[in-house]
Amino acid sequence: MSEIGVYRLNTGSCNGCDIEVFSVLATRFGLGELKAKIVEKPEQANVLVVVGVVTVKMLDSLKEVYAKLKEPKVVAVVGACALSGGIFQKSYNVLEPTDKFVPVNSYIPGCPPSPQVIADGLAKALKVKYREWPAPEGFRGLPELDAEKCTGCSACEMVCPAFAIELVDEGNKRTVKYMYDKCINCASCEEVCPEDAVHPARKRHPSGLDRGSMGTSAEEELAKCPLCGTFQVPAKQIRSFSDRIIEKVEKYNKFREDIERAAAVCSGCRKKIANIDSGKSILFKLMMSS
Ligand code: SF4
Ligand code: SF4
Repeated sequence: MSEIGVYRLNTGSCNGCDIEVFSVLATRFGLGELKAKIVEKPEQANVLVVVGVVTVKMLDSLKEVYAKLKEPKVVAVVGACALSGGIFQKSYNVLEPTDKFVPVNSYIPGCPPSPQVIADGLAKALKVKYREWPAPEGFRGLPELDAEKCTGCSACEMVCPAFAIELVDEGNKRTVKYMYDKCINCASCEEVCPEDAVHPARKRHPSGLDRGSMGTSAEEELAKCPLCGTFQVPAKQIRSFSDRIIEKVEKYNKFREDIERAAAVCSGCRKKIANIDSGKSILFKLMMSS
């Protein structure tokens, strides 16, 4: 294999990913093994490494640099910003994602990704074999979801600052989707999850060749609203809710059915004055039994 020229373009990065890309030059990460070296001009390169969000001002430069690359052209995007816009998605001066403007061969997730993951992503883009890097002790990677524990409560979706978590309801199913192309490793989801269902992976998440498939998900069954029949509240969440109440006050166990029925009422029915009385009657029952 002849030597490969790698050109790095910063389209709007905070420099976090830049620093990690330059770390890849250190001998221990074996860029030399890939027969790749950083070059100063796009004309000398056939690999383009993009870091940062694509800002309005840098869009033309991105397209120009891509046009100047030698064939066969290979593009690797490094870090959540370049993959999806990361924390800057929806900003007025940010155009995302990079693959909307140039074809991308390798997606390297993280905020920022480690040099090991960047080197792995380059190797994948170049279709060459590269070594495995085990994660050190205490390593905190991208969030992993325990589908058994997840109740689909949506607390994580509400706190995620990078729009990396999405809850999709279809019929009587809710899908909790974690999208690694957007995740910035902030761990807010782990902190807020009431079920202890999210934990940072103890391994490095590898780069991917397809952005859409980078992530993890859990599927939850939705319970029927006892008043109008719509599906809105996850059945597991209802069970977890009643478990918690009964754990605190054991004698409420005899009202489990009432509690779970009330918890399954959808938000629309909850707002109707006519339905408030049935809610009150459960509270009354619990109160009288105390
Ligand atoms: S149980 Fe945890 S992981 Fe599942 S939706 Fe709720 S906060 Fe998210
Ligand atoms: S760690 Fe969790 S909350 Fe933070 S960006 Fe990633 S998915 Fe969102």
